[in-house]
Amino acid sequence: MTPISLGLVGLGTIARNQHLPALAATPALSLAAIASRNARLDDIAAFYDVAALLASDVRVDAVSLCTPPQGRFAQAQAALRAGKHVMLEKPPGASVSEVQALAQLARDRGVTLFATWHSREAAAVEQARTLLANATIQRVDIAWKEDVRHWHPGQEWIWEAGGLGVFDPAINALSILTRILPDPVHPTGAILEVPANKQAPIAAQMSMVTGAGAPVEAVFDWRQTGPQTWDIRVQSDLGEVVLQEGGARLVVAGVAQINASDAEYKRLYARFVDLIARGQSDVDLAPLQLVADAFLLGERRVVEAFVE
Ligand code: NAP
Repeated sequence: MTPISLGLVGLGTIARNQHLPALAATPALSLAAIASRNARLDDIAAFYDVAALLASDVRVDAVSLCTPPQGRFAQAQAALRAGKHVMLEKPPGASVSEVQALAQLARDRGVTLFATWHSREAAAVEQARTLLANATIQRVDIAWKEDVRHWHPGQEWIWEAGGLGVFDPAINALSILTRILPDPVHPTGAILEVPANKQAPIAAQMSMVTGAGAPVEAVFDWRQTGPQTWDIRVQSDLGEVVLQEGGARLVVAGVAQINASDAEYKRLYARFVDLIARGQSDVDLAPLQLVADAFLLGERRVVEAFVE
C-alpha cells in the first residue's frame, strides 16, 4: 500500500521528541515535508509555514500540527480547505468553538480531523476505563504537579492568553479523567493562581462532580521541583484504583497491574491512519470544555511574578 504522505508543521519540542520517532516507526505514513519558520530537517522538503507548503508542488495527503494552540485554527482551516486530513496536538485549539468549526469543515470537505489526546494512549488508561465501566465511583482526586522550568523552558506562548498555563499539562489529566469515568463530570468551582507578570495560571484547583454526584478534586501545580506527580486516584466499590506516572502505571487495591513503557505517539499515528482509512474523524472536546469551564468559573488570584 502506498504510504500516506504527511507534512509536519511546527518543528519544536514535541515534534522532535515524539512525532518524528513515532512517524519513523509508522510505515503507513511517509514524512514528505516540514513547515517551520526557524527549523528544518536534512533531506526533507522545508517550508516557512503551512500556507507555503500547501501552495507548493510537494504533494501531501495529511498534515500534523505541532504548533502552539494559538494560531492553530488558521493552519488547520487552510489544510482542511485544501482537502488534507489533519491531526491536531493537544489542546486541539485555543477555544472550544474554533475546534467545533474545524470539525464542521472536515465534515463538509469529507476529510479526517483527529484531535489527539496523547495521555489517553498511556499504557494503563484503557484498562482503568474497562475496570471502572460498571463501578460505583465514590470520589476522585487528581494531583498533577510538575516543574515548568524543566518541561517548558523559554516557551512564551504557554503563558499568553490561549496558552493555558498550567492547564497545558492539566488537560492531559482531564483527558484521562473523561476517558475512564463512566459518566460525565462538570466543574463546580476553580481557583486560578496567575503570576503577576503573566496571563495564564501557574497553578489551579478545580472542584468537579460526576453525574452520579461523586466529588472530583484536582490540584494542578507547575511549581513542583524534585519528584514529579501525575496521579489520578479513584475511590470506588472495587477499592482504590490509582493511575500513576501519567497513566503508565495502574494500581488496584494496592496491587500493581500495569507498568508499561510509553508508546503514546505511535498509537496516535496508528489511529490517524485508521481514521483516514475509515473516512472518519475523532474530535472529543470534553477535556477542552472542562478547561474552558474552569476559566469561566474560576476565581483569579494574583501570585508572585514568574522568573524563568
Ligand atoms: P514548542 O517547543 O514551542 O514548539 C512549537 C513550534 O511551533 C515552535 O518551535 C515553532 O517553530 C512553531 N510555531 C509556530 N507558530 C508559533 C508561535 N506563534 N509561537 C511559538 N512557536 C510557534 O512547543 P511544544 O512544546 O512542541 O508544544 C507544541 C504543542 O504540543 C502544544 O500544543 C503542546 O501542548 C503540545 N505538547 C507538548 C508537549 C511537551 O512536552 N513539550 C507534550 C505533549 C504535547 P518555528 O519557530 O520553527 O515555526
